[in-house]
Amino acid sequence: MNCPICNDIMKIVRKDASYNRSKPATYDRTLFRCIDCDTWIKIEVPMKQIQTAKIVQPAS
Ligand SMILES: [Zn+2]
Repeated sequence: MNCPICNDIMKIVRKDASYNRSKPATYDRTLFRCIDCDTWIKIEVPMKQIQTAKIVQPAS
């Protein structure tokens, strides 16, 4: 990813997961930082492959 301010290449500072209770959905979160001008960007991409796992209710 390139910096929107100075167009320099941004460095990945951290990758982790975040959870949105109102969806509910889990997001793959990545934090970018531009070393040149100290701009930070956070992106959160939904992890579709796990969103419906283990939610099926047993029939009674
Ligand atoms: Zn920059």
